[in-house]
Amino acid sequence: MGDKDGAFVGLDIGGQSIKGFRLERDGSISARATRPTPASSGSKAVLAEIASLLAELRSSGAIVAVGAGTPGGVDLSGRIAGDAVNISGWRGTELGAAVARASGAPAYVRNDGNIAAYAEWAVRGGSSRALLFVGLGTGIGGGYIEEGCILGGVDDKAVEIGHLIVYPGGRLCACGRPGCVEAYAAGPSIGRLATEMAPRFDSPLALAARKGPAGAINAREVYEALAAGDTLAVEVNAIAVEALSRAIGAALAFLAPDTVVLGGGVIKGAVRLVDEVAATAPQFVYAAASEGVRFERALLGPEAGLLGAALYGASRSLSKEGLFDLAEKARAKLG
Ligand SMILES: [Zn+2]
Repeated sequence: MGDKDGAFVGLDIGGQSIKGFRLERDGSISARATRPTPASSGSKAVLAEIASLLAELRSSGAIVAVGAGTPGGVDLSGRIAGDAVNISGWRGTELGAAVARASGAPAYVRNDGNIAAYAEWAVRGGSSRALLFVGLGTGIGGGYIEEGCILGGVDDKAVEIGHLIVYPGGRLCACGRPGCVEAYAAGPSIGRLATEMAPRFDSPLALAARKGPAGAINAREVYEALAAGDTLAVEVNAIAVEALSRAIGAALAFLAPDTVVLGGGVIKGAVRLVDEVAATAPQFVYAAASEGVRFERALLGPEAGLLGAALYGASRSLSKEGLFDLAEKARAKLG
């Protein structure tokens, strides 16, 4: 399987698990490895799992480059620059150096939202020049890619769109501030909104919520009910759509993307969300900023992090055409 020059490795470091794969030059995935993240055991324990995972991937053949996505900020040397809420003691970790040592290859480490954005840009094969990605999951992350360059800002912290305050003094966000879009449109926030609003409704979703424990409804159930026209689900969805549209409207004014991609776990069940945001976001920005902007669903699912990381590492040794070709082949093989 392995190419004589070696493979590109993608590494996706999350609060629950660390995943890696070998992306060969023909777009095939020749090996995969995964480890649980010892998230509460400190950075040394996490680095040990990463080293073990890379040793496993290295045993299948040479590695040309490793791209890695990590929660939190990361500086130009691959050092973790900020706190990551889901890995304790992550700040200050020399991640880039550790990955390079364990893999025997150059390591390119970026924030995971930026890596997911990079994946969505790359698999579009040049059809987008400036792409804004918004990932809706347990939180809301994002990234912005212009002509293949990640807009990182200081320590890769740019485009934290989830913490754009859309309702000053509003619902409390996990970051401690009130009114962030994440407090209205992330998966758990959608579930909480539905649970809190349930007493004012008599719909099937509201009745189910009142029977269960607090916080019993999740986003998936809200979107299932929405498909059936449930009045509570309609109301909750409208709140999430408006919050998201306010944040994306602001982002359009700041970044001027040609494509806005919505992805993440929430989007799976939210079949009309992209169209609704496309219709609503232009209300929250001056007219020229939304003209001609395409709103699209993510082309990749949960593997965006792995593929984006591998492609980001690969981009250092491939032409743009070579990168797009590899991205297309890999996407086809990932299915
Ligand atoms: Zn926040």
